[in-house]
Amino acid sequence: MLRQYELVELVKSYDPDADEDALNRAYVYAMKKHGAQLRTSGDPYYSHPVEVAGILTQFKLDSTSIIAGLLHDTVEDTDATVEEIRELFGSQVAQLVDGLTKLAMIELKSKDTKQAENFRKLLLAMSEDIRVLLIKLADRLHNMRTLHFCPPEKRARIARETLDIYAPLAERIGMQEIKTELEEIAFRELHKEAYESITARLNFLREQGSNLVPAIIKQLEKDMAEGGVKATVSGREKSPYSIWRKMQKKNASFEQLSDIMAFRIIVDDVAACYQALGIVHSKYHMVPRRFKDYISTPKPNGYKSIHTGVIGPENTRIEIQIRTQEMHEVNEKGVAAHWAYKQGEKVVGKNFRWIQELLEILEEASNPEEFLENTKLEMYNDQVFCFTPKGDLIGLPVNSTPVDFAYAVHSKVGNTCVGAKINGEIKPLRTVLQNGDQVEILTSKAQHPSPEWDRFVVTGKAKAAIRRYVRANKREQFVALGEQMLERTFKGENLEFNDKVLVGVLPNFEAESVEDIYAKVGEGLITAWDVMRAVYPSYKQSKLGKVVKSFKARSFGKSEKKSKSEPVKIKGLIPGMAVHFAGCCHPLPGDRIVGIVTTGKGVAVHSIDCKALEKYASEPERWLDISWGEGAINEVHIGRLKVILANEPGALGDLSNLIARHEGNIANLNITNRTLSYFELIVDIEVRDLKHLTDIIAALRASKVVSYVARASQ
Ligand code: MN
Repeated sequence: MLRQYELVELVKSYDPDADEDALNRAYVYAMKKHGAQLRTSGDPYYSHPVEVAGILTQFKLDSTSIIAGLLHDTVEDTDATVEEIRELFGSQVAQLVDGLTKLAMIELKSKDTKQAENFRKLLLAMSEDIRVLLIKLADRLHNMRTLHFCPPEKRARIARETLDIYAPLAERIGMQEIKTELEEIAFRELHKEAYESITARLNFLREQGSNLVPAIIKQLEKDMAEGGVKATVSGREKSPYSIWRKMQKKNASFEQLSDIMAFRIIVDDVAACYQALGIVHSKYHMVPRRFKDYISTPKPNGYKSIHTGVIGPENTRIEIQIRTQEMHEVNEKGVAAHWAYKQGEKVVGKNFRWIQELLEILEEASNPEEFLENTKLEMYNDQVFCFTPKGDLIGLPVNSTPVDFAYAVHSKVGNTCVGAKINGEIKPLRTVLQNGDQVEILTSKAQHPSPEWDRFVVTGKAKAAIRRYVRANKREQFVALGEQMLERTFKGENLEFNDKVLVGVLPNFEAESVEDIYAKVGEGLITAWDVMRAVYPSYKQSKLGKVVKSFKARSFGKSEKKSKSEPVKIKGLIPGMAVHFAGCCHPLPGDRIVGIVTTGKGVAVHSIDCKALEKYASEPERWLDISWGEGAINEVHIGRLKVILANEPGALGDLSNLIARHEGNIANLNITNRTLSYFELIVDIEVRDLKHLTDIIAALRASKVVSYVARASQ
């Protein structure tokens, strides 16, 4: 275990301005807090955070990170609090420790790593400060290094998690070194036999003198020198895990794998990389399809290098990587390397694609601390990740609500959701979900998607489902209405009406079913008369006037047979059917009314005296018997009056006072004519019903400034 002064020395070796006092205090604090706690290895617990801090010094991280590394388990495992840490070590350290504690809690929620990709994204999204992630990876690395102390049943789970989540995460932020070590340890744990046989094989080859690594290095160095390229050559056997992966990928046995050795040529600049490549390719046969130029096209994580496979010195197939020193450090240390470069006032180029944002901050920031402070991991800030009660992770766009979550789980869950528990508490369906929330959806079979939801859901799936439902629901209304209209039209002419007679005319209306015809009639796309004429081509329709007259005679005042379910303000409509009041006649409750089925806009309610109705005289199938129901009382309607006022001071004021005193509200007022002696006005008044308007009219008539008042009709 690193001693206190050793750790401080390490930090000071690359950061002379490091806060020595704070480092010392943090070391002691961690030691005290973890006290007598022991690790499964039997070591004192505090050796773990100290080792984690040690790993972090290899990445030359700032003292804030090192201190947070020392304290990373104190809040989770001891009586330390974030507040206390803030007081003792400042808000930055406290924030990092808080972030790490949250990550630890999230880990507990996730019960399996099936959804590793989502979990990785969640970790990235939760690690608001990139240092949180770096410390987390160092933490995991140390836990893996000491994995053999764990009980066997725990080991496999931890190793799998490491392989599924942490190694790819390390790779994603470009930390090759950590990634490789995590993978090797996990591999040894999960595939012990494969690991052992590969290692034994490698040892055997070495003993046989088949380990040609030193000889090949020497030859390559000579080649470079002769070609005039200054280069450092290194070589190694590939790691057991990468050999095993290659065996799997190629479905090959160990013997069939020819290139188990990899060499690295490190040169000064990009031009030298291509020079070195030229030397290699002109001297050795290239193995087809093994050449990759990640310098001109870097990997998404920023990795840059040239890879090539050749039949190299000693007639052996080898892999060669060519890169600059700078590329090498970035490849191995990833994000941390950027920080180290900045520390040395040496800014690397814009070679990371996904990390572009980091680099922009890096370039703008005046000092390394500021860089790290501002370096938020923004790659998944457009997403949130939430847990199901079973521990599955659901990824959603930011601002998603429980309804979005429900639809993401399953459309059925979405369609029937009535409420949600977020982290165990009942919350409104419009609540915006946060990263790591555990969401439980409450459902009821009686529930339907509500058009209201459309206002706050953000996922396409939820929006589409809600609209589909509303549309399907509308269709139901159109079907019912269409059937009613057709039946009345046919019976009014004493013609036989049933589904059978309609089947024959389906093609006439491009309908696939009788229901389609109903829907089209209900929606007003075709008229009932069109259908009737198609069914009975030879039938001559009766005098239209007669139809309208008889319709008028029988309709009003009587309650309708239909719609006994919910109280509707207008009787005779199909419940829920789109309905609006015609602008021409402003019918009021109490007025005698009639419904006209419009094209695609549902039913327009007209007053029975409205002149606009003449237009529909030849289409009696559009007419709908309707009347006012009890529900209308609290509705506000517009009553339109024509008023003639004496043109004298205060007349308009008197008018509005009078209307207001009778609880009417002027919605619109338009002077249509004005002479020396009078105003002529059209006044729209919000009223409850006809009686209300009549009362207002009576009051106006009694006023001495009003010379004429009546309901306006066009
Ligand atoms: Mn830990």
